[in-house]
Amino acid sequence: MDGNCGTQRELAALRGAILGWHDENARDLPWRGEGDPYRIWVSEIMLQQTRAETVIPYYLRFLSRYPDVQALAAAPLEQVLKDWEGLGYYSRARNLHRAARMVAERPGATFPADVKGLLALPGIGAYTAGAIASMAYGLPEPAIDGNQVRVLSRLFGIRGSTALPATKKAIREAAQRLLDRERPGDFNQALMGMGALVCLPRKPRCENCPGAIHCRALALDIREHLPELPERVSQRLESRAVALVYHGERVLVRQRPEEGLLGGLWEFPHFLGVRRKAELREALLEMGVTPRSIQKGPTARHVFTHMIWEMRGYVVMAASGESPSGRFVTGPELEALPMATAQRVYREEAMKAL
Ligand code: SF4
Repeated sequence: MDGNCGTQRELAALRGAILGWHDENARDLPWRGEGDPYRIWVSEIMLQQTRAETVIPYYLRFLSRYPDVQALAAAPLEQVLKDWEGLGYYSRARNLHRAARMVAERPGATFPADVKGLLALPGIGAYTAGAIASMAYGLPEPAIDGNQVRVLSRLFGIRGSTALPATKKAIREAAQRLLDRERPGDFNQALMGMGALVCLPRKPRCENCPGAIHCRALALDIREHLPELPERVSQRLESRAVALVYHGERVLVRQRPEEGLLGGLWEFPHFLGVRRKAELREALLEMGVTPRSIQKGPTARHVFTHMIWEMRGYVVMAASGESPSGRFVTGPELEALPMATAQRVYREEAMKAL
């Protein structure tokens, strides 16, 4: 069987084996069997870039705070970002909030019930639209995430870089042909579950796989060569000086612009390429802060998808508690602000000091 062939009988047998496996082995996750589009949407957005085990407590807390789309739409963005803190990739939270406001304005505050309408909402791409359409509305739509790409390319022996349109098309066609039209939501979850539990990137557990007797990659012994993923862009290393600027019982923070990396979050001022106290003094003077003293503080490292921040902290005593480009806050105020996980170490330091 490859991307273009496979008899109907063979496809039916494979489909049945996968669903049977799912019914017995599906992970007991809080969003499993969920039929409400709002809840499915929240779980799917959280699961982008984040492991299920990490998502579970966030998902439960988020839904208790925002039980429906109106509650989310009515919340201030800053509070939503605060509740997202620790999950990272904050553009997901901002899009979630924007989309909630759009849905809340629709008649009855209902979600669009087809892929086209779902795709019109911010933060919803082909995968998430397929997941909501199949799980909430039972529509025969594939939901192709990284796990599905791996499982499908191996089952069907699909070669070629997954960045190429032809490979994407072959994977999509395979997903559409294999999809169970009676239970599309369960079937999508079954393929994702296989990717998470048996068809692992390295050392797939083929002996436990419901698709083993149909698997092209297993038959050809090319399992670990598929999928052919494009080379990762190497990560850029950036040195940054992070300033914990105190005045009395308060510390200086500033808000990042809405657009771009960590948009809308609060942070301690930090400066690219600054390595010496004299350079830091200059940088602080430029932002309207006059340092009285500067001491070295802890170092920290944060890895983003395309970049690594190597951070050196500095503890700065300021001559005044005013800055035109930031705000001096107390310990409780600092605790309440949504801040980037990248600076968690420095927030802990500041909380100890305040
Ligand atoms: S048989 Fe092995 S390689 Fe093929 S789908 Fe199953 S786990 Fe993946």
